[in-house]
Amino acid sequence: MVRRAAHGCFVHLRALLETGNSCRADCLYCGLRRGNSSIERYSLEAHTIVDIVSRAASGGFRTVVMQSGEDAGRGPEFIRDVVVSIRDCVEAALTLSYGEWPAAVYGMWRRAGADRYLLKFETSNRELFAFLRPGRTLDQRLACLRFLREAGFQVGTGFMVGLPGQTLDDIANDLLLLHHLDPDMAGIGPYIPHPATPLAQSCREWNCAIRSEDSVLGNFCSAEMTLRCLAIARIMNPSLHLPATTALETSLADGHLRGLSAGANVLMVNVTPGFCSRNYDLYPGRHVGNDEDPRVLWNRYEGLLAREGYMVSPDRGDGKGNGASWE
Ligand code: SAH
Ligand code: SF4
Repeated sequence: MVRRAAHGCFVHLRALLETGNSCRADCLYCGLRRGNSSIERYSLEAHTIVDIVSRAASGGFRTVVMQSGEDAGRGPEFIRDVVVSIRDCVEAALTLSYGEWPAAVYGMWRRAGADRYLLKFETSNRELFAFLRPGRTLDQRLACLRFLREAGFQVGTGFMVGLPGQTLDDIANDLLLLHHLDPDMAGIGPYIPHPATPLAQSCREWNCAIRSEDSVLGNFCSAEMTLRCLAIARIMNPSLHLPATTALETSLADGHLRGLSAGANVLMVNVTPGFCSRNYDLYPGRHVGNDEDPRVLWNRYEGLLAREGYMVSPDRGDGKGNGASWE
C-alpha cells in the first residue's frame, strides 16, 4: 500500500553492466575478493562498455548501472574517460558502483557526467564490518557516502541480510542507519555464501572472533528476512527507490515479484556479456546474461510486469537529489 501510494504501479527497469571483476579488496563474503584465484579476471574495453550502454539506452532502459570490483589496475581515469564518452552519445541516467575512492575521484567522475553512485554500507555493526572487510572500517564507508553526496551524486546504499554473526538487533540498526542516511536508493539483499570464500567455511575453523552459529537468522531464512526488511524499509522511507535485488531473485523462487509485493519498485536487468557475467561471481547461482539484446530483455520484463499488474515507468526514476542532511 505504501509503495502504491508513493510510486503507483510503476516499476523502474535499470540495466546492469558488470564492467570488470578485478578487485583490490578482500571482503570475506565476496567471490571477487582478491584472494580468490579460481575465477578468470576480465575488464571490458572502453568501446565495448560504451557500445553496450548505448544499446541498453536505445533498447528502452532509462538508467544504466555500471559496476565492478575496485580495479586499481585500470585506475579512476579510465572510468572518467568512459563516462565522458557515454555522455557524448547517451541520455540515460548513469549510475556507478565502483567501491571506495577518495573524494577527489568521486568529484572527477561526477564532473565527467555520472549521475548516481551505489555504495552499500553492508552492515551497521562496526565490529562485523571490520571483520568482513579486512583493512576497511564502517566510518571510512560512511565518509565515502558523505563525499558522494557532497560531489552531487544521487546516492544509493544498503545492506546484506543473514550475514554470519549478524543479529536481529543489527538488522534493526541497519534499517535505522538507512533511514538516517536518507539515500535516494537502497539495495537490501540476502547474503549468499560463496564456497570459495572464507566466510562460507566454518568460522570456527578459521578461529574467527565472530562465529557463524552466533547468527540468529541462519542462511535458510535470509531471503524471507530480506522481504521483511524491504517492507519495513518501504514503510520507513516511502519515496525511496528500492530494488528487488538480484541476490533476492537468486535465493528465492519468484524473488523479483515477491520483492515487488514486499515494497520494492525497481528491477535490475543484467546486460553484461555472458562470458563476463559468468566470471562476475559475487555469489553462486546468479542469473548469468546470455548475450540477449537489451531491447529483447526490456520487452520481456515489460511483459512479465504487465502480467502481474505493474507498468514499466517511462521516466528516469531520479532520486530526490541533494539537500538531505548527512550529519
Ligand atoms: N565493489 C563494489 C561493487 C561490487 S560488489 C562494492 O563492493 O561496493 C556489489 C555488492 O555485492 C556488494 O555491495 C555486496 O553487498 C554484494 N555481495 C557481495 N558478495 C555477496 C554475497 N556473497 N552475497 C550477497 N551479496 C553479496
Ligand atoms: Fe571487491 Fe566489492 Fe567484492 Fe568487496 S564486495 S571484494 S569491494 S567486489
